[in-house]
Amino acid sequence: MNPVERARRRALRRLGALAFVLPLAGPAGASQVVAARVWPAPDYTRLTLESDGPIRLRLLSGPDPLRLVLELDGLQASPLLGELAGKVRPDDPFIARIRLDTPASPAPPRLLVDLKQRTLPQTFNLAPVAAYQHRAVIDLYPLVERDPLLALIQEKQAAERQAQASVRDSLGSFIEGLERTAPERPAAGGSAGSPPASAAVAGADPSQATPAPSRVSPALQRRIDRLIIVALDAGHGGEDPGAIGPTGLREKDVVLDVARRLQARINATPGMRAFMTRDADFFVPLGERVRKARRVQADLFVSIHADAFYTPQARGASVFALADRGATSRAARWMADRENAADSVGGVGISSPDLTLVHTLLDMSVTAQIKDSLQVGGEVLTHIGRVGRLHKPRVEQAGFAVLRAPDIPSILVETAFISNPEEEQRLRDPAYRAELVQAITGGITRYFARNPPIARSRQV
Ligand SMILES: [Zn+2]
Repeated sequence: MNPVERARRRALRRLGALAFVLPLAGPAGASQVVAARVWPAPDYTRLTLESDGPIRLRLLSGPDPLRLVLELDGLQASPLLGELAGKVRPDDPFIARIRLDTPASPAPPRLLVDLKQRTLPQTFNLAPVAAYQHRAVIDLYPLVERDPLLALIQEKQAAERQAQASVRDSLGSFIEGLERTAPERPAAGGSAGSPPASAAVAGADPSQATPAPSRVSPALQRRIDRLIIVALDAGHGGEDPGAIGPTGLREKDVVLDVARRLQARINATPGMRAFMTRDADFFVPLGERVRKARRVQADLFVSIHADAFYTPQARGASVFALADRGATSRAARWMADRENAADSVGGVGISSPDLTLVHTLLDMSVTAQIKDSLQVGGEVLTHIGRVGRLHKPRVEQAGFAVLRAPDIPSILVETAFISNPEEEQRLRDPAYRAELVQAITGGITRYFARNPPIARSRQV
């Protein structure tokens, strides 16, 4: 039980009989469903129940791991809820079907979810924002996650194979053409001398064969170790639109486009590879964004946002690094979180019995993280200042949750104030987005040119 819950229970106990008089979850005070959605994203399938009042999802465990029972506390059963069954796509990787179960009152309605594979369900609530009302969410994650670093490398290998194949194809048809015309054009040999040789080499290239996914050659391993990985984090997404401009431009759409453009530029830079914490319109919880970046052993984490303020005058771009105050204890709490318990900093697991050592290592790591973040943030801010207005002339510091990886320099870029009509127009302009992306990439590459990351042993 968390402290808030404990305090609430204690208060309820003190209230005694009064608590029973209050209509806490009775049908009279029950919330109504206004929308029910099933949303398969690349990483997980999300089930969302939107209601006119808060509800509580309770996951009841049964004997069958392929059957989830979701109790919907505080919710009134309605036909809209039943419609969820028809919204499951046949190709949904996790859900086979959903049924509504309405036991006799006062028991709350339940959803019976039949699964295609075992999953790790995560439930949480989202407060009303913009056009959305109260939302209760359950995300179904695969039990065994695809290794993101391996996926990144395989993706690059596949792209290289494709490039080689297209070169071979064009060479092949060129040679075929030569051979067909050879009797008539015996003098063509001069220029045709080299292509057959390289074609033969390309044809015999063992890399054409699909490599076993888990076997990595020493040469490839060295390349992986040297690769600079930049985690790009497009803020918000899916259920969470972020800030919305005066004419309706949504932060989640702008930042995704900016992140994709950044990804293309970074991938075009030799020795660098971008990793996206989300590459489509879906929501990723803040802690999960950091976890994803740590799993690929990113050398830098860049979160992209577009600011909003309650007065339309606020303007200019900002760059944030993590605030020093309380950073180590926050990092310690973050690491102690169940999800991160298996992780380690400086080779020492957070579950190590030597707490002083763990704290000292964390402290050193966080101090270095902030120092590096301020440095890379400074480079990025300087470059952005050349194409647009700045909100403040220096890197600011705040306790943003996405900046809390204890061992990855992390910055958050507020590209502009989307709430400012003039800046909303700039953000809408593809030419400005391109300038912005060039500036951010400029800052990042300059930082790495000055501070090359130490070659590390990435485990694939
Ligand atoms: Zn934002």
